[in-house]
Amino acid sequence: MSKSIAIIGSGFSSLAASCYLAKQGHDVTVFEKNETIGGRARQLKKDGFTFDIGPTWYWMPDVFERFFGDFGKKPSEYYALKKLNPAYNVYFGKDDYISIEDTLDKICQTFDDEEPGSSKKLRKFIKTAQNNYDVAIKDLVYRPGISPLELVTPVTIKKIGQFFSTIKKEVRKEFKNDKLIKILEFPVLFLGAKPSNTPAFYSFMNFADFGIGTFHPKNGMYQVILAMENLAKELGVKVQTNHPIDKILVENGIATGVTSNGNSYESDIVLSGADYHHSETLLDKSYRQYSENYWEKKVFAPSSLLFYVGFDKKLKNVEHHTLFFDVDFDTHAEAIYDNPKWPEEPLFYASFPSKTDANAAPSGQEAGIFLIPLAPGITDTPEIREKFFKKIIDRFEGLTSQKVKKSIIFKESFCVNDFIKDYNSFKGNAYGMANTLMQTAFLRPNLKSKKVKNLFFTGQLTVPGPGVPPSLISGKLVAELINKSN
Ligand SMILES: Cc1cc2nc3c(=O)[nH]c(=O)nc-3n(C[C@H](O)[C@H](O)[C@H](O)COP(=O)(O)OP(=O)(O)OC[C@H]3O[C@@H](n4cnc5c(N)ncnc54)[C@H](O)[C@@H]3O)c2cc1C
Repeated sequence: MSKSIAIIGSGFSSLAASCYLAKQGHDVTVFEKNETIGGRARQLKKDGFTFDIGPTWYWMPDVFERFFGDFGKKPSEYYALKKLNPAYNVYFGKDDYISIEDTLDKICQTFDDEEPGSSKKLRKFIKTAQNNYDVAIKDLVYRPGISPLELVTPVTIKKIGQFFSTIKKEVRKEFKNDKLIKILEFPVLFLGAKPSNTPAFYSFMNFADFGIGTFHPKNGMYQVILAMENLAKELGVKVQTNHPIDKILVENGIATGVTSNGNSYESDIVLSGADYHHSETLLDKSYRQYSENYWEKKVFAPSSLLFYVGFDKKLKNVEHHTLFFDVDFDTHAEAIYDNPKWPEEPLFYASFPSKTDANAAPSGQEAGIFLIPLAPGITDTPEIREKFFKKIIDRFEGLTSQKVKKSIIFKESFCVNDFIKDYNSFKGNAYGMANTLMQTAFLRPNLKSKKVKNLFFTGQLTVPGPGVPPSLISGKLVAELINKSN
């Protein structure tokens, strides 16, 4: 039976859910607080430059294909995808970097050049990673996280050891070269926790990296949001921007709608894709499932300090994706997870989309995005942002052997306070809740409220977890659950 469904937020998870629910014949309205849709994946346009504000790495193209395929469509009907080569560069010192190219064979050669004989071990490691990818990304992550039994299959029982070992241990067992270790530990950072706190089973991220590769949608990740908006609208979804929801209405334990800008919108079902903690604050206390204490105890993925910079010239010695791992990872990780503070010398990531996408910057100029991962909830002031910009731009100049400061036309920043203001993010987290062993599957916040009938949740704080592909999957999972419950 067709129901009216109010969805809070227009990030990847909400948009995905809206498509599935509309396809099932429901009357779906998306309410977004901001002026534009996309949530953490919004876009910034300035003086002819275009920046993705959030995600920049398009990994796991099969998940996007599966999403559009569910509607009889293909991503290529909406946006053009290009495989990047190199996928990325990693700096370890001045003029000292490794390029990760676009095939496993080429990457194996790079490994042998750094650590003779390591390619054989790499192939074995990636074979296990591929197997894990097939188990996790093609199957397990499409289970709704309701019961621990979802994780128990003949295949996962054989892999049980991998849930109790960590990526850090497994990588160090096989590889001795510090640079290769850092490269192999990098992909799980997308899951929001330290490699020492991430189960070895999550090596499927390494297969996503080396086995499948890094892609770029022409004109940026925001094209995927626009594609999903188009699909949603084709399916009849209504999208209302500038509609901050300030209350989820509940009568006798049943969700009955939402309020925004002084108006009430009745609905049979409410689904929130906003950050889970915030979504529960829209309920009276007695209807919340998780206490403040619960959230305080969870391992949150990092926040970030980001800069979007327009340069008046092309930059040298950098690629579309460039990582700066020239300082100690453990010291920075400690400042994020163990003893939250601003890191003395941060690792950072830089993206120059105009290296491969002519539309990202005016001709002869460069668009640069710089990201420093940070502990959620730390003090964020304009002075601190500026201090850290100076720190990384000085290092950037030294490491890449070029002067860029005088070529800056403008720079915009985004940090903890903006994550809170723009997305109602808990402590200003960027990527939601980390995927540690104790925060996996049924151990993550529920898709379905246990206290309020007809109230559901989706997004990177629920199952399966942080990242764009998991957010698409989260939207699908909650839509299936809503259908089953009604
Ligand atoms: C800087 C950064 C870099 C990243 N890089 C990558 C990457 O390279 N690759 C990758 O795969 N992933 C990346 N991620 C993670 C990825 O972007 C997220 O996992 C994903 O976008 C989360 O989608 P979501 O739908 O769960 O939440 P969101 O995108 O946060 O959507 C929630 C929406 O709810 C809205 N909202 C909140 N409160 C209300 C309210 N009261 N009323 C109405 N609306 C409300 C918000 O405005 C927002 O639009 C990155 C994230 C960040 C922040």
